[in-house]
Amino acid sequence: MEYITDNNLCTGCSVCQCICPAKAISMQEDKSGFFKPVIDNTKCINCEKCKKTCPANFNDVQSCKSTYYAAQNEDLNTRDLCSSGGIFPLLTDYVLRLNGYIAGAVYDANHEVRHIVTNDKNLIKKIYGAKYSQSEIGTLFKEIKALLSKDEYVLMSGTPCQISALRRYLGREYDKLITVDIVCNSIPSRKAWREYLKFRAQFDKQTLLNIAEINLRSKSTGWTDYSYNTEFHYKNGNITHLKASNDPFIQFFVKGYISNKACENCKYKGTRGESDITLGDCWGIWKSIPDFDDNKGTSIIIVHTDKGKMIWESVSKMADFKEYQEEDAILYNPSIINNNIVKDDALKNITEKDFRFFVRRQRSKRRISLLKNTAKNTIRRIKNIK
Ligand SMILES: Cc1cc2nc3c(=O)[nH]c(=O)nc-3n(C[C@H](O)[C@H](O)[C@H](O)COP(=O)(O)OP(=O)(O)OC[C@H]3O[C@@H](n4cnc5c(N)ncnc54)[C@H](O)[C@@H]3O)c2cc1C
Ligand code: SF4
Ligand code: SF4
Ligand code: SF4
Repeated sequence: MEYITDNNLCTGCSVCQCICPAKAISMQEDKSGFFKPVIDNTKCINCEKCKKTCPANFNDVQSCKSTYYAAQNEDLNTRDLCSSGGIFPLLTDYVLRLNGYIAGAVYDANHEVRHIVTNDKNLIKKIYGAKYSQSEIGTLFKEIKALLSKDEYVLMSGTPCQISALRRYLGREYDKLITVDIVCNSIPSRKAWREYLKFRAQFDKQTLLNIAEINLRSKSTGWTDYSYNTEFHYKNGNITHLKASNDPFIQFFVKGYISNKACENCKYKGTRGESDITLGDCWGIWKSIPDFDDNKGTSIIIVHTDKGKMIWESVSKMADFKEYQEEDAILYNPSIINNNIVKDDALKNITEKDFRFFVRRQRSKRRISLLKNTAKNTIRRIKNIK
């Protein structure tokens, strides 16, 4: 087998690897730092299962009628641990009450992102919070299938393409499978993430090995108007903050400079109904319902299926929420349906130096605008004296 799908459409979802009966596929990072399948033709038996399962090769999903809510977890401490309104923990608690399992993205010991499935409450807390780098799926889909086959409840959370991939792998509905995806701008490269970690440790006058914990969506400077910051905890007790608007990684990410090429052609987001519920930031709530915004994070909840509706009705008792207009949601958060613009070839050159260059440029921009303001004020004062 030479070809599973167009490389530019491959999301790195790992379904081909999981489905291959000959164990002929391994997922390896390409030059840009995204997982892509590599086929060992000495093992391949040409069954074409990989090609026939790959989500990138199909366009057969119908859109559905979805309902929108703006919501906040009533428990402020839990909300603070999460990126937006802290609705994800309400869903995980729901599944834990059913003795089920949660699958989602965590940082490993080297601060690389990977998916796990667990029913351990402490590990589930590590799934909270957005991690902006492509997650390693590994054998996750097989583990989920094994749990569903034992009639266990499983909540799978991830990007819309990962949910689509799991569904293709399973190939049938399971009553006890709950799928939750995120509003997904795009997914950044693992290589860019590593370069950023090196830059950040140096910038903070620390070492890579000294990094203890990372929170890319700290609300210590607020949430409203994108005022969050990135927070690094070091083993020596130091905690550093960088405002998102000054953090080169966040800025490269939101501009699409370090994202997967497949995100340019994303067909997984929107109201396709492959997930039961979609969670995102309710950006713009400070304009659409200003009274509801408390600067501590509000989620947008998009309920797609009857299962999602039933679960939302149960967990929303622990949330403050309002029905929300689809138009407002999309107006202020176009990532719900739109693809991100990815700048060609920008990623090839991303190194730790580019992060430093960005910070230097931001600083000189600030200095120039400070000088301009001082000059303007001086001229105004001179005019007033005359
Ligand atoms: C790469 C990425 C891009 C995003 N882009 C947007 C956007 O453009 N607009 C928007 O409104 N929201 C976006 N989000 C979602 C948002 O940041 C919150 O994760 C979401 O609102 C849920 O918030 P919460 O407070 O309910 O729970 P949280 O605790 O913050 O939820 C965490 C959830 O995110 C999943 N997750 C975290 N990192 C990854 C990863 N690398 N890969 C797969 N799943 C992951 C976890 O499995 C878990 O389900 C993005 C998230 C990620 C990870
Ligand atoms: S054709 Fe079959 S054996 Fe070959 S890589 Fe694909 S799934 Fe594996
Ligand atoms: S999109 Fe997924 S299934 Fe298709 S080739 Fe890429 S990793 Fe394999
Ligand atoms: S933008 Fe689309 S293809 Fe890219 S990670 Fe998100 S869901 Fe997957």
